[in-house]
Amino acid sequence: MSIDLRSDTVTKPSEAMRQSMYNAEVGDDVYGEDPTVHRLEETAAEILGKEASLFVTSGTMGNQIAVLVQARSGEEILLEEQSHIFLYEAATHSAFAGVQTRTIKGVRGAMNPEDVRQAIRPVDIHQPRTSMICVENTHNKAGGAVVPAENMRAIYEIAREHSVAVHLDGARLFNTVVASGGKASDFTQYVDTVQVCFSKGLGAPIGSILAGDRETIERARIWRKRMGGGTRQVGVIAAPALLALTQNVERLAEDHANAKHLAEGLAQIKGMEINPDNVDTNIVIVDVRGLGISDLQLIEALKQAGILCGGFGPGLVRFVTHLDVTRADIDTALATLHKVVRGAQ
Ligand SMILES: *Cc1c(COP(=O)(O)O)cnc(C)c1O
Repeated sequence: MSIDLRSDTVTKPSEAMRQSMYNAEVGDDVYGEDPTVHRLEETAAEILGKEASLFVTSGTMGNQIAVLVQARSGEEILLEEQSHIFLYEAATHSAFAGVQTRTIKGVRGAMNPEDVRQAIRPVDIHQPRTSMICVENTHNKAGGAVVPAENMRAIYEIAREHSVAVHLDGARLFNTVVASGGKASDFTQYVDTVQVCFSKGLGAPIGSILAGDRETIERARIWRKRMGGGTRQVGVIAAPALLALTQNVERLAEDHANAKHLAEGLAQIKGMEINPDNVDTNIVIVDVRGLGISDLQLIEALKQAGILCGGFGPGLVRFVTHLDVTRADIDTALATLHKVVRGAQ
């Protein structure tokens, strides 16, 4: 069996999750009659400090619906340059919402609020209206970096001055919450809508939640239906998502400790460039350009030796810890890395 560090999406549902699926009370959710979905949506809204929430099939769908309900065709949304919505969602915002994107370069995932202020368009017949700002926390491409609540507050204040909506791509929001030792609302109070994935570090097989005020979520429900995301006895997947949300949050601290341990070990390997102090959560990105073999050669050699990881741009390799890898697995991965690197040089 390989040790799979490609992503925290590779986890398999636990025995308890499978049992919860078997036992789930269900109804037709398009009719609004699935009690398990209701319980999930109410619990998520409460934890996220919002009036309402909507269960959706994926993070991409949650983010996309957030754009559709808060921006219109011909308008502009602001995104961090390396954000998931901008890089990895197949331009859904242009394909479906018809919005133009404008990117802002961040530092470790955090946009400078003054840059955001400068990017908001004036009222001018020549220019698109700026309708929405997207923040990502943790920031995937920035190596699972925690974007400070203070940064989000500053951006939110500017957004409000200009009547611009703020959306949080919180695919891994609970990693932020656990790493910062606070609660979700420390962050979500500074956004209008938030999307959180149950299928990443929280370990559910499928699903995300989109939360916001009641009126916005009602409109989101219509968009979900339009996109073919209205589903029926979906309590069978809401049940493991509910377990993920209520039982798998605190344990993210273990993933963070494992990631730090991995980063410290990688920093010992000559030719691997990484600062363990920058590993805030469960994502470890290492620069391997000094190794003398390419990133792709390293990934392939590790794969042959039973360690799976992923490329993350030229010269970069990403490792992600999650609930299906133990501290012992990390030690095995490190020992294998030493061997593979020594063998290749
Ligand atoms: C995974 C991810 C998403 C999208 O989630 P899917 O469920 O894969 O569509 C969105 N944003 C970030 C930051 C992610 O890591």
